[in-house]
Amino acid sequence: MLSINGMLGEGGGQILRTSLALSLVTGNPFIIKEIRAGRKKPGLMRQHLTCVNAAVKVGNAKAEGANIGSQSLKFEPRAITPGKYNFAIGTAGSCTLVLQAILPALLVADGPSEVILEGGTHNPFAPPFDFLDQTFLRLINEMGPTVSASLIRPGFYPAGGGKIKVEITPSPLGEIDLTQRGEILNKTAKAFVANLPENIAAREIKIVKKLLGWEDCEIVNIPYSHGPGNVLTLSVESENLTEVFTGFGVKGVTAEKVAKRCVGQVKSYLAADAPVGKHLADQLLIPLAMAGGGTFITQPPSRHTMTNIEVVKQFLDLNINCAEIDERRWQISVEK
Ligand code: AMP
Repeated sequence: MLSINGMLGEGGGQILRTSLALSLVTGNPFIIKEIRAGRKKPGLMRQHLTCVNAAVKVGNAKAEGANIGSQSLKFEPRAITPGKYNFAIGTAGSCTLVLQAILPALLVADGPSEVILEGGTHNPFAPPFDFLDQTFLRLINEMGPTVSASLIRPGFYPAGGGKIKVEITPSPLGEIDLTQRGEILNKTAKAFVANLPENIAAREIKIVKKLLGWEDCEIVNIPYSHGPGNVLTLSVESENLTEVFTGFGVKGVTAEKVAKRCVGQVKSYLAADAPVGKHLADQLLIPLAMAGGGTFITQPPSRHTMTNIEVVKQFLDLNINCAEIDERRWQISVEK
């Protein structure tokens, strides 16, 4: 049985999610110890536990240590079962992170699935729905499977109450080459507000127009959210992929600051002239590993990316090469 060190590299929930995902895909059981041991609240939190429970259902798996606060987990998958699933986190924990644990298996299952996830849809430190939909899933669709996601209701921290639906028609994954971004086709800004004054969104858009000169800018007022929330998404649609950068409104941080930080991410992405942004880089490693090959150029790899490479290599016998091209760009290649 594989033994995974939960303190490896970045040391967070991603090690657990990648392990669950690849355990389901490969059928290899694993034990993980010291889960999130260095964090303020160590062990499994509600979102992580939902990942484990979801993986248990999808993989008819046996799990020991699946409780809140647990720092060790033994996970033994059996057959992947496609079908209709509904997983509710019960807090504002991120729906898209729960999806990271089960989507890879459902992409290669022997039938279609429909997954409803309830919790947060736009959480700091997690892929926001718009990134999932426009960035990640578009690439998955290019690799073979047909996956669509719809936002039924947004959920923001701390109220949660969000809901997304993901429909999956599986197929083996093909390799992908993202070494070129291609021409930029559209640059779009959307400032969302839920149960908050619209002028927050207007101030964010004003900064985007001033600092980036983008014209395609929209204010979206969401009337049906369970709690207040504000996000700014900046999408760069290029020939070969769309990257989505997100600014999260936080109490006590001005709208201008939220917008400026988000603009900073876009500027650094465009200046690097690397197609794959730093968040996409760590997430793309899983489908590339499943395809058994592929390559991309990205910004200098994050700790999440380096950690994910290590976890992937424990489950799959692959060469993952990570080489610096220049100070702004790295190439990551996966091959058998
Ligand atoms: P962890 O910190 O271990 O829970 O992992 C967080 C995951 O969320 C990683 O896969 C990150 O790439 C992803 N993530 C965090 N922030 C964003 C963002 N703004 N856009 C897209 N993905 C994100």
